[in-house]
Amino acid sequence: MPPALGDHGQTLGEAGEAATLARIFPRLPEADAALLGPGDDAAVLRAPDGRYVVTTDTMVHGPDFRRAWSSPHDLGWKAAATNLADVAAMGAVPTALVVALVAPPETPVSDLEAFADGLRDACAALAPGCGVVGGDLSASGTLTIAVTAFGDLQSREPVLRSGARPGDVVALAGRLGLAATGLLLLFERGVDADGIPDAAAAARLRAAAPGPVDAQLAPSPPIAAGPAAARARATAMLDVSDGLAIDARRIAAASGVALDLDPAAIAAIAGTGIDPRVALSGGEDHALLATFPPDAVLPPGFAPIGRVVEGAGLLVDGRPFDGRGGWDPYADWDGAAG
Ligand SMILES: [Mg+2]
Repeated sequence: MPPALGDHGQTLGEAGEAATLARIFPRLPEADAALLGPGDDAAVLRAPDGRYVVTTDTMVHGPDFRRAWSSPHDLGWKAAATNLADVAAMGAVPTALVVALVAPPETPVSDLEAFADGLRDACAALAPGCGVVGGDLSASGTLTIAVTAFGDLQSREPVLRSGARPGDVVALAGRLGLAATGLLLLFERGVDADGIPDAAAAARLRAAAPGPVDAQLAPSPPIAAGPAAARARATAMLDVSDGLAIDARRIAAASGVALDLDPAAIAAIAGTGIDPRVALSGGEDHALLATFPPDAVLPPGFAPIGRVVEGAGLLVDGRPFDGRGGWDPYADWDGAAG
């Protein structure tokens, strides 16, 4: 498609890096922790705790998203949200993001502006005070987004995966199975007659089923629940990125215990319209799965879904659960892109 007339129809290749960055910088959210923001060789952040949490996550066109389904705003939102969830899962408050974007030269600069708006809107909605303090822009045929996130432990100990003890309560904040249901719907109905991802079909689907499709394309993990869990003495925590079954096993393995989950509680969180199997296997909701001492008061947003018991692995209703289920980027990647 030829670019529209006028400055705002320019592509990344036409505008060049400096002019593109000049249009993006003013749209980026400011970080309260920044002593020096974007524009110099590097940013300078405050680290009041003397330590900081850091994590990174990459999204590649094809295995991680489809341009036919995700708007530039969605991509900015999701890139922020997934990284914010990893910071929150340590019990930390997200403070800053560094964003590397590799985009085809024919990408309209207006798409990059919408991407920056997505970053800004996700930070404002999910982690107020967190901002983008720097990044990098480069050109390549495959749209790739890499975000590094920083967080402040606020003088608390980080909540690891390894601290769950028999007798602890297993609790969850956030959604289960909604994002995976959205992805299943997109593969079923967001495609053309040949099964190729199609923007018009996806837009019709999103209007008809905004809940699951928004959860997949622009998730809203309960970021504030992470530090709240740390304050409530959570013993272990992670964000459910690959599916409840896989991620619950990760806590069990790291802690040397078994997690026994209550299927009725899982079904209640998933809600009507979500297949209970998808609630167990579906990834990308970035709910926070945590364990708490038996006498802890669960913070707002957390609901009990089971118990930590002696043993190993995952139990559902007291019986070993061997179902595989969950998202594995190597096992599931078919290399197709649309
Ligand atoms: Mg994680």
